[in-house]
Amino acid sequence: MVNQSTLENGSIMNSGLMCALLFVVSAAVLAQPVAGRFPDQKPPDRYVLIHAGILLAVPGARPQTGMTVVVRNDRITAIESGYLTTVEGAAAGSVPLIVDLSDRFVLPGLMDAHVHLWHEPSFSRHRAERGDRHPPWPGVPGSGAEGAVNAMIFARRNLAAGFTTLRDLGADDEAVFAVRNAINAGRMIGPRILLAGSSIAVTGGHGDSTPMARTGDEIERLANGTCDGPMECRKAVRYQYKLGADVIKFTSTGGFGSNTGLDPQLFPDEIQAIISTAHLLGLKTAAHAYSPIAIKDAVRAGVDSIEHGFLLDDEGIAMMKKAGTFLVPTLSASYPPPIFRIPDPPSVKLRNEYRAFERAHAAGLNIAFGTDAGTFAHGDNAKEFELMVGFGMTPMDAIRSATVMTAELFGISAEAGTLEPGKLADLVAVKGNPLESVAVLGNIDFVMKSGRIAKQDGRMIEPFNYPAVVE
Ligand SMILES: [Zn+2]
Repeated sequence: MVNQSTLENGSIMNSGLMCALLFVVSAAVLAQPVAGRFPDQKPPDRYVLIHAGILLAVPGARPQTGMTVVVRNDRITAIESGYLTTVEGAAAGSVPLIVDLSDRFVLPGLMDAHVHLWHEPSFSRHRAERGDRHPPWPGVPGSGAEGAVNAMIFARRNLAAGFTTLRDLGADDEAVFAVRNAINAGRMIGPRILLAGSSIAVTGGHGDSTPMARTGDEIERLANGTCDGPMECRKAVRYQYKLGADVIKFTSTGGFGSNTGLDPQLFPDEIQAIISTAHLLGLKTAAHAYSPIAIKDAVRAGVDSIEHGFLLDDEGIAMMKKAGTFLVPTLSASYPPPIFRIPDPPSVKLRNEYRAFERAHAAGLNIAFGTDAGTFAHGDNAKEFELMVGFGMTPMDAIRSATVMTAELFGISAEAGTLEPGKLADLVAVKGNPLESVAVLGNIDFVMKSGRIAKQDGRMIEPFNYPAVVE
């Protein structure tokens, strides 16, 4: 009987699925002539008027009080003093939505230049508790499907924490591509994601997760971003480009997450091949680099950002300053220690000994906010602000690093990073003043991304009305 009923349910499910498919097909067929018959018929403009008690429109400049941010569809059209209730030039009958943040501090959406969306420590812990077989790399999902589900959940958690743009710097398969595409197509709420795909590593290096038995398999190596020698490294970059990567990440040295040491692993000609190929294709490059030699090799080859840079020396700082290279400090990755649950971990000792962040900041380097979220819980990214301020940055500069500077590093300054007419309406609000206590950024109250409210009064909005068909 049980089997019979399961079967019946199964067949009902199947016919339901068939109906759904037929609906999708007919909707797609209908979409074309309707659009053709009424070419000028667009949905009416949506207006939102945000009443900001304190508005930090351009981090680095003075905040203003009692301002209105005028949003039309996905963009800011004006910023006016006082609290407006109507929109000049709006079509007759269009009623703007008014969002009262008159007792809040409003600032541009935050950006994290270094996350790994497909995992976090709790995930691998749960797997271990369930008795799952451990994957070859600590903490990574057992399959791309799991990685994609993780990325959906974690992307949303980052958005709830006020991060409207993320740069994902490495996952071992295409899971995060699927999530990025779904978010960008408007099928799912989430932060804007720029991603690297697999980070490029040499055989046996930090990030080479190719199974030992398949070390000679070219496709396996390309999929994992593994390459040796300039020609292979060019191909590895082109492979990630073909998959749709927005940025190329390479691991120039080992790191805290692998037992491969902290010294250089790539030859200068390999680094040169990676960076020049990426730049030829219009992609920015990010070098995971600890040792000062590896940092300098990457800077010489024109890398756009040094990730971590924990052993940065004075010569390296001078070279980065001259070239305009960004440092993405990821203090959270070392302090407090994310993965290693051991007392007195080497990462903290190393960081405190070299104080690369403090010296880079004192020298006036470009510093872009990045955390390495995924080596700790997604959504805790704002703790990096407290570390940065604790190590001598002003709250204003820390906020600037996560808005203006990240936008510049990502090459999206014309679209995001500040609140100005013409830019995307990505903004967040908090209770309290983050310029007085940067810790309040750990409690984001309101989030708007591309003109859509994602979080209000501390709660995520649940948008169920996603389009069934996405163009
Ligand atoms: Zn990382």
